[in-house]
This record gives sequence, structure tokens and C-alpha cells, in this order.
Amino acid sequence: MDTNEGANPSYENGADDFEDEEQSEMRVLLVEDDNLIGTMVRLNLEQDGYQVEWQRSGEAALQVLRTVRYDCVLLDIGLPGMSGTEVAKYARKLGLGTPIIMLTARDEIESKISALDGGADDYLCKPFNMAELLARVRAHIRRSQGSLEVPTDQELHVGTSLVNLERRALRTTDGTWHELSDKEAVLLQFLARNPGRALSRADILEEVWGMDATPTERTVDNFIVRLRRWVEPEPDHPRHIVTVRGWGYRYEP
Ligand code: CA
Repeated sequence: MDTNEGANPSYENGADDFEDEEQSEMRVLLVEDDNLIGTMVRLNLEQDGYQVEWQRSGEAALQVLRTVRYDCVLLDIGLPGMSGTEVAKYARKLGLGTPIIMLTARDEIESKISALDGGADDYLCKPFNMAELLARVRAHIRRSQGSLEVPTDQELHVGTSLVNLERRALRTTDGTWHELSDKEAVLLQFLARNPGRALSRADILEEVWGMDATPTERTVDNFIVRLRRWVEPEPDHPRHIVTVRGWGYRYEP
């Protein structure tokens, strides 16, 4: 299917053996008529190792969707001619199961709802945070590919970060590695292995600190504050390590 692209990925892998190899073959279709937004999104996706095809109209998008398999589609709602909502509906009628993330303006609430009804999987409001967009793309691809995309025993995706347990380090979206303490590594693993579950502070204390020490529940909160700086696109508005009032925390991938 993909014979004319030459060798990829576009970056050298050798220097950093923790590079996310599975992402280098992922193809994303970007449908956006705004040049500035399109350029920014494409650049960021390419830097993350994706192959990006950029189309500027819904009609052109459907054309390529009929012949090329993509791992994810980023679809602007307000397009000239056919709208993004119509494209999503039509793509689903064609039987495409590819994750579709809509890009919407703040005043397009109606179309946002009908886009989700029509088969889109998610939406992001403009102006969106680039790290957030990359995290959503990653999450949707991972979900849609099920077992193919399960990280190795030694790697975990937590929010927007990649945790390498062997190296006991965490890579944030800007590519920086941060060393993790034992407790931080165990806490990240505990969260990642219990997605969607409300974990009490007592659960976390027992799992991470065990019986051998007597830290207070405040210790848990301090650790969470630190981890959020690494795994959240906006640490002050956490989406991944969410507070469960009067109880503890819940991890949302
Ligand atoms: Ca537009």
C-alpha cells in the first residue's frame, strides 16, 4: 500500500534507544482548511513520529479515506463545502473504524454534538494544547489497536508521558527525561494498572509505602502534585490523575 514513501522514520533512532518505535509507522489523516493550524498540527505530529497526510476539504479527505488506511483522523468541523460532521458520518457509512477526533471552534457546540452522534470518537476545542492533542491521538490509536499497542512490561504511557521502568525515568512530551524515585515509579505503575478506579489514599499508601513506614496521607498528595507536572498537559487542571473528593485519586488514561 505504501511503497513510494522511502525509508522512514524521519529522525535517527540510534542515539536514543527509548524512542517510541511503534509510532513511527502510524499514519494520521489531517483535514483542516486553516493553514496556520494545519501547519502546526502537522509539524507536531511529525515530530512525534507520525506520517501525516494533510487534506484541506472534506471531499478530498473522503477520496483518500477510500483507498488508504489511517490509524487516526483529525477532522476540522468548519470546512469549505462538505462539513467535518458530514465527512465523519459518511466515513462510518463506508464502514471505516478509524478513530476520528474532531477539531472544533468554541461556538460550534451543536455541530460538536452531532459529530459525536455521527460517529466521531472525540473532539478538541480550538485553540487546543498541542500536548493534549498528541496525547489524545496516542490514546485513541492505542485503544483502537488493542493488544497490538500494549506497551512492553518495561514501558507505560501515563497521561502525556512515557514511563520506562527499567531506566526508572519518565519522558515528558518535550522529549525530556526525568529520573524517578522508587516510590514515584511504583505509584505511576499502580495508577496505570488501575485505570478508571477510584483509589483511596489508604490504598495508595499501602501499595506504595507498604507497612514499613508511617507517611501521612498528605505525602500521597505531595507525590501526586509532582507527578501531575510530568503527566498532565495542564497540571492545574488535571485530566489524567483526577482528584476524587474525600477519597483519593482516579487515573484516566
Ligand atoms: Ca476550518
